[in-house]
Amino acid sequence: MQSRREFVRSVLMQAGTLWAFPYHVLSGKDRNMNDKKDNPNTYPSYMRLYQSGELDERIGKLKSYYENCTLCPRDCRVNRVKGETGKCEANASLKISSAFAHFGEERPLVGTKGSGTIFFSHCGLRCVYCQNYTLSIRGEGVEVGEKRVAESMLKLQALGCHNINLVTPTHYVPGIVSSLKQAISRGLRIPIVYNTGGYEKAEVLKLLDGIVDLYLPDFKYTSPEMAAAYSSEAFNYPYYVKIAFKEMYRQVGNLVKDKRGVARKGLMIRHLILPNRIAGSREFLEFTARELSTECYINLMRQYRPEYRAREFPDINRRITRKEYSEVLECAHQLGFRNQDL
Ligand code: SF4
Repeated sequence: MQSRREFVRSVLMQAGTLWAFPYHVLSGKDRNMNDKKDNPNTYPSYMRLYQSGELDERIGKLKSYYENCTLCPRDCRVNRVKGETGKCEANASLKISSAFAHFGEERPLVGTKGSGTIFFSHCGLRCVYCQNYTLSIRGEGVEVGEKRVAESMLKLQALGCHNINLVTPTHYVPGIVSSLKQAISRGLRIPIVYNTGGYEKAEVLKLLDGIVDLYLPDFKYTSPEMAAAYSSEAFNYPYYVKIAFKEMYRQVGNLVKDKRGVARKGLMIRHLILPNRIAGSREFLEFTARELSTECYINLMRQYRPEYRAREFPDINRRITRKEYSEVLECAHQLGFRNQDL
């Protein structure tokens, strides 16, 4: 499987006719990819909240976070509506770097028509080895209104994408859900994938209950010291990620696919194996087996390579070895995990 960065690079190298930096959505013929058997009143899940009016209430509650921002565990308490910025360096205007049909994600998300991916700029986690640091840390991208994000969602659906894959959405959740409502009113009917680094607050995730059908979180570390060392002093990451995972699992449960093998609902976990056991892979697997389920879908990712500032840190300045990968794989098998993307 290609990493996101590898995929973006390969697309860029192919031709500007397909994809143009910094922000462009492919145009294409309208194609309705809804599963004909779906009840349009109940799937995607957001239809219930949209029809009952509760989606408006959720948007109101989420937007109030912008004025004293505690959307993520950094708790910066800045007024982003007034243009102030916290650790993520994002104000309240949605900023995105790209939107396209992605064929480099997990197979159940990609299906035959791709995952409709929207990359948001900025990030509150700021890992020193981030592959997407130009967007997440340097903030490359274009500020767009909620209306244009809604239009992007509709264009991705028109391309036939199986879902709307929101990459690094945490710091923009209020604006994204507002965009989603606009897109639903204009015909959006494919599920939302919440693609996050896992640094989330359960109270915010609760406001996404019934909106998100597919959670795609990373589980990066189990050690506060490692989280602090490699993700900009995020020593509380292991504490918050465990609570967040329990909440996501409570909402959507194990992965459910349709007859074509395309993801419909559920938790899909990513775990990037780091050199020298820095990610705490064994502890992560034991936590998941004990607190969630060995039926969870897990992608044990072995494609780590030193990027961005990783070369400044000797312990992460190399790829993982076969032995390190085998050790994690064996642990997963011993614990009874079978639903893996390897
Ligand atoms: S979303 Fe950004 S401003 Fe808000 S708490 Fe997190 S890092 Fe701070």
